[in-house]
Amino acid sequence: MDFAENYRCLLQDEIQSAHWSYSQVTLHPVVNYYKCQGCNKTVTDVVAIVSDDLVHDTHAVSVFADRVFQHLQAKSYTFERIVQWTDGCGAQYKCKDAFHDLHSLKKMANRVERIFFGSRHGKNACDGESAVIKRTITQAVKARRVIVQSAAHFFAYCKTHLVKPDFIDGQCEHYRRDFIFVTTADISRPEVKDDIVTVKGTTTRTFHSIKSEGPLAIQTRSFSCFCHGCENGNGSLCFNDTHVDPWKHVEIKVKRKAKKDGASSFPVLEEGPGQSVSGDDLTTDLARRISVLYDDIAVLQSSPNDGNGNDLAGLDDSGRDVPAWLENLVQETCDHLDESSRNLFEIIVSCKVL
Ligand SMILES: [Zn+2]
Ligand SMILES: [Zn+2]
Repeated sequence: MDFAENYRCLLQDEIQSAHWSYSQVTLHPVVNYYKCQGCNKTVTDVVAIVSDDLVHDTHAVSVFADRVFQHLQAKSYTFERIVQWTDGCGAQYKCKDAFHDLHSLKKMANRVERIFFGSRHGKNACDGESAVIKRTITQAVKARRVIVQSAAHFFAYCKTHLVKPDFIDGQCEHYRRDFIFVTTADISRPEVKDDIVTVKGTTTRTFHSIKSEGPLAIQTRSFSCFCHGCENGNGSLCFNDTHVDPWKHVEIKVKRKAKKDGASSFPVLEEGPGQSVSGDDLTTDLARRISVLYDDIAVLQSSPNDGNGNDLAGLDDSGRDVPAWLENLVQETCDHLDESSRNLFEIIVSCKVL
């Protein structure tokens, strides 16, 4: 599964001013592979999420994944094992919150695993699906067959023209496609966010394969392996053990975090009546996060201190000292960004703060 680049609603006869106020649509295809109940052949079942929610974070991914599995369960499929392939984007699939959420899929299958591609390395099946869907809609808009000005319009067109059914004339079809609409209201983003931390010594960059052990435990591995030993769920019998390291147990700890007024609640992109997002939404989001951090630093600098800049009493009611608080803020921001943005952000922060 993967996010596509947002679809921008265009009108065929567009006045110039419309150029700067696009409405955008999130498209998140999930390409599922499983055995056909009818004939045991492999089915490719594309379930594309269409949404007006533009945040593209791990909370959205969690809801999308749940909806896709509900959709598959409604077809009376049950799963012994789920293997998800995602990119390694830290904001969406490869972060501590995402590892925690992975456990929720355990209600669907006994074994739940996630394998990470390198971020932005090449094309995957989702890219092909996104391209087909967006191209079809763009062509229909240009031919004036439809007007698409919102995510709901986009979804309605897809449901009418792009669904591929499971059966045609009683015969099973092995290339299927359907669409699910998710609105911003369907995605809960907690006001007070639990601070999820993994045990020390674990950095997300060092592994490319994880499996859920329980609500507060995962196993990690540098590489993924599908040899006979690993397929039977026993990594100690791996045929490739000279190349593939054994599974490593990692505990997830959850700390309830007090919300600090304003400073630690990152603004998210909004698009309501009269508002629109123009330009690259990731860049806009990054710029806002940096501006929040700068505001915090300004407050920090104007506060009474002991002359060394260390006494910051009153700034932070939770009682944490400021270096840790600032570190948390930077870490929290980094968790929301993909790798290239994170590197950029770290450079900017180190120039400004250190
Ligand atoms: Zn079949
Ligand atoms: Zn193996």
